[in-house]
Amino acid sequence: MKIIDTGKKVIQAIQESDNVAANQLVLELQSIALELQDENYKLRQRIDELQNHINLVDDMVFDGKVYWRGEGDDREGPYCQRCVDAEGRAIRLQFREETAPGYESRWYECHSCQSHIKL
Ligand SMILES: [Zn+2]
Repeated sequence: MKIIDTGKKVIQAIQESDNVAANQLVLELQSIALELQDENYKLRQRIDELQNHINLVDDMVFDGKVYWRGEGDDREGPYCQRCVDAEGRAIRLQFREETAPGYESRWYECHSCQSHIKL
């Protein structure tokens, strides 16, 4: 990072001039620069995470009831329509079944927004 390199050059110049107060200030400046570098790294990681999430939501296909990613045997999901549309969140749905003789009951439910999608 350019600010670190410049800081090192300033430290070297001040050390050679033997100015204690200025030397101390430069050390503080270097510490701040390292904090900024760390914060910058974390922010870049967060941007990557958010970009991946946007790509995840953009790739989804709605089948009329739920969202899926991909097609055919490779498709993933299903994902909750309400959570995707309202919040841009890819929440997997849980399959539930309470089928009894003569009575078929199967549905997906979202553990985030509590939506129930009957099948
Ligand atoms: Zn949901």
